[in-house]
Amino acid sequence: MNKLLRRCPVDGNYTLQKQCPKCGTQTVSPHPPKFSPDDKYIRYRLAARYVHDKSQ
Ligand SMILES: [Zn+2]
Repeated sequence: MNKLLRRCPVDGNYTLQKQCPKCGTQTVSPHPPKFSPDDKYIRYRLAARYVHDKSQ
């Protein structure tokens, strides 16, 4: 369960490689880690933010 789908920022090509097979550009993750549903700590981060906002 480690499908790290990455995306070339130049031509938008999706690949599992760290380099685009078309242009050789370093690919990036299309989704920031903090928004990953696999992030086991997202609940804690959201909870912390919620508490922080309520305390303001
Ligand atoms: Zn590319």
